Amino acid sequence: MLNIVLFGPPGSGKGTQSEKIIEKYGLTHFSTGDMLRAELDAETELGLQAKSIMEKGELVSDEIIMGMIRNKISSESDSKGFIFDGFPRTTAQAEGLDKLLAELGMKIDVMLGLEVDRQELIDRLLKRGKDHGRADDNLETIENRIKVYKDQTSPVMGYYESQGKYRGVEGVGSIDDIFGRLSGIIESL
Ligand code: ADP
Repeated sequence: MLNIVLFGPPGSGKGTQSEKIIEKYGLTHFSTGDMLRAELDAETELGLQAKSIMEKGELVSDEIIMGMIRNKISSESDSKGFIFDGFPRTTAQAEGLDKLLAELGMKIDVMLGLEVDRQELIDRLLKRGKDHGRADDNLETIENRIKVYKDQTSPVMGYYESQGKYRGVEGVGSIDDIFGRLSGIIESL
């Protein structure tokens, strides 16, 4: 099994690189952002609760997120491995994930970090907002998402670093070049 956390600020390319990693290594995708957007579209109770939080760029509660992950993991026991994208986003989520995986006799092998500077992130997300109309891709929400990332999410990097699992790559360049950097690390594991 190969279990990866793909890490990086909003707009760093986690979704794009996840797709390529999944295609090449046959992993199961866990994107908490996609899972929440599916709940929103289906207008579930959970989706209704999450909507205003996501529109502001704040974090949905650890309890809701851990519940979604727990449900999905238990139905994926035959998988070749997991890629976590946009999760864990707080140290509490990282601890929750370690505990959940340990219960199942599994562990995280590596955290791959996409490193991109702030102005590039803002430019990419504004462009995505124009092209795809995602409600949270407007300047005010983008700036808050980056702040929330800095304050609440970046400590998660230290959590994996202290376990010797963090590997950062330059997240700027062509999609294939960045994928080459990531697969180089995966294959060296
Ligand atoms: P991005 O990384 O591009 O900002 P995502 O699609 O990963 O976007 O997440 C969109 C929003 O969904 C976040 O701003 C947050 O409100 C919510 N969200 C997604 N994943 C989590 C998580 N693990 N914990 C808390 N909130 C989350």
